[in-house]
Amino acid sequence: MSISKIKSFLGSHSLSPSRDLGQNFLVDEDEAASLVRWAGVGPQDAVIEIGTGLGILTHALARVARRVISVEIDSGLVRAHQAAESFAEFGAKVHVVHADAREFDFLQAVAELGSPVKVVANLPYSVSTPLLRQLLDARHALVDWSVMLQRELADRLLAQPSTRDYGSLTVLHHLLVEVDHGRDLDENCFYPAPKVVSSFIRIRPLEQPLLDDGSVLWVERVLRAAFGKRRKTLSNSLRAFVGENGGDSALVVEILEGLGLDSRVRAEALTPTQLLAIARVMGERLSAAQEKKG
Ligand code: SAM
Repeated sequence: MSISKIKSFLGSHSLSPSRDLGQNFLVDEDEAASLVRWAGVGPQDAVIEIGTGLGILTHALARVARRVISVEIDSGLVRAHQAAESFAEFGAKVHVVHADAREFDFLQAVAELGSPVKVVANLPYSVSTPLLRQLLDARHALVDWSVMLQRELADRLLAQPSTRDYGSLTVLHHLLVEVDHGRDLDENCFYPAPKVVSSFIRIRPLEQPLLDDGSVLWVERVLRAAFGKRRKTLSNSLRAFVGENGGDSALVVEILEGLGLDSRVRAEALTPTQLLAIARVMGERLSAAQEKKG
């Protein structure tokens, strides 16, 4: 779709791109087809797309996939596609759902579509982080998810310890999934052009995740507290957290020393497995302390 066609589609439905909804639409159909190829979508796959937009990616997906459910929050766009019968050529294969993806039940959709199901999306930047977190929760139902992100966010997912971008989201992803960097797209691939470079990445659940399902929420809470105050040492960052959970303020130093780590270390210097070990021991020690009290 050329930019003039995009403008004319929007104009004829009295729409204009919403910055709040992250409406930076893909412009080039060949680019959309190449993203679908890179996402590894095949005829056996059903796909959930987040953010239909003008439907360029939806079309590219529907040409290859078994079925496509595309979730779009903007009622104006949903109405425009209905009026224009944008996906009529695909019949019942494409279903546009008017919904907020943050409230969308991915597990229910997978149950309806039948496996295998992938997610492919050019994500709205303002809600990319909560959506990434939500996709982690749906990991058992999905083959993988290939998403366009602001490059800064992709860098956070791919970051190594002791770098500025390394944080709790990085570690949680390292423990549960593998992240592949596809390629970067510059602002000219979108209309309107965003002020940032975008990265298309593919995330797959690890066959043998380092973190068991029952521990995800606990470990995430510890990680958030650990990275919450980046200038502080880990023992300082976690002191209040330990106190709130009924533990003694000396506990973190004890745990670090017990694991052979420097008690003045900062969270960002530790590997995901070291942070996981700390969270595990902390969970055990706090439960033991609570049992003793109770
Ligand atoms: N897939 C299209 C493309 O590649 O051109 C559109 C991508 S555009 C970056 C993001 C789309 O997500 C917009 O159409 C926007 O309206 C929609 N969107 C924004 N927030 C959403 C949400 N919470 N749930 C579902 N869709 C959302």
